[in-house]
Amino acid sequence: MSPRRSGRDPWARWDRWEPKPRIAVTGGVEVARPGKVSNVDAVAIIAFALSHSSSAIPGRARTYARHGQVVNVSIDDESAQAEIQGSDPRPYQVALRRTASKSFAADCTCPYGCTPGSWCKHAVALAYVVAELVDSDPASAARWTGSADPAAAAAAAAAVPVAVDPELLARLAAPRSDLVQHDVLTRAAEVVPLPPA
Ligand SMILES: [Zn+2]
Repeated sequence: MSPRRSGRDPWARWDRWEPKPRIAVTGGVEVARPGKVSNVDAVAIIAFALSHSSSAIPGRARTYARHGQVVNVSIDDESAQAEIQGSDPRPYQVALRRTASKSFAADCTCPYGCTPGSWCKHAVALAYVVAELVDSDPASAARWTGSADPAAAAAAAAAVPVAVDPELLARLAAPRSDLVQHDVLTRAAEVVPLPPA
């Protein structure tokens, strides 16, 4: 008997089955090497996503991330939102939330959906994208972890006008017996104002 399956073989159609192609989109975040991150917060979201999804999910998620299928990504207030364009004409809405330093929650509008212990491929794809952005962009990392943006803080500090008092400099350069410590501290506070709380 021929090993080839005939047209009547009910299994023959599986030979021809192919997954529906992804619908290409533009403007998505293309991650060349999903998961190749070193930032501790980037590693944390990847590790959590991988340990909260079934074995077939991460490979599909990496394909989405590599091909830029994750679009309209926004990260703010320890959360991330995006749309994922798969084979369906309508993109799925997916969201991740940081609930603790190494704990995260996921939600997706796809039929598979997300439970606390089983994330869909769209949520894991967004995790790869978030990890990439956190790893490569300090501002994204700050919004994801809820900490102050280091670049913005530096810019704000640089914007504070500092008036140098030549008289104070002269007094500091030439110590005088009548210059008590209280005077120095008072004048120093006038010259270099305390940063805003
Ligand atoms: Zn999904």
